[in-house]
Amino acid sequence: MSPIDKLTALFERFPGIGPRQARRFVQYLLTANPAVRQELAENIKALGAQTNQCKKCYRWYAKNDGSSMLCNICADTHRDQSTLFIVEKDADIDNVERSGFKGLYFVLGGTIPLASEEPTKYIRLNPLLTRIKNEASVLKEVILGLSATTEGDHTRQILQETLQADSVKLSSLGRGLSTGSELEYADPDTIQQALGNRH
Ligand SMILES: [Zn+2]
Repeated sequence: MSPIDKLTALFERFPGIGPRQARRFVQYLLTANPAVRQELAENIKALGAQTNQCKKCYRWYAKNDGSSMLCNICADTHRDQSTLFIVEKDADIDNVERSGFKGLYFVLGGTIPLASEEPTKYIRLNPLLTRIKNEASVLKEVILGLSATTEGDHTRQILQETLQADSVKLSSLGRGLSTGSELEYADPDTIQQALGNRH
């Protein structure tokens, strides 16, 4: 396989990227300045060496100088420890942060497909249950911050069924987030409104 074909095949593995787009990325790199290729290669290498996955919320973060295995949000004791915001992916946290939310997070790692019988294959259900159990004494509310999509709704239902046995209060984002919209793309005002209307 030539480097062109190899790289095209690698780009095709990216979420949402098809063969044509993958080929266009390679074409861009072929004609780009060598410094661009080098910068890209170096940063991809650094991604593994200079990032950690938080042991508590599972988001990826840039390693700090200390040996902490927690991200800056989880390590911040001034944040509201009694509210846990559950999101699908890391990018959702960046967006919710801009809305001014001051509690803590948990990244599910995806949503559960409609036909699935095995939720644990698609989301971090067991780590979530463990975390809620471990923090039962301080945790007052769990906010299900799923996207307003079919799979997001389905995932929310399964989480509601699974978590309702716990003594913690469960809430969902209220109106503001329109049907079909993903948390990642909602603007901070909309998220703030949806948080204010949670039920
Ligand atoms: Zn964290």
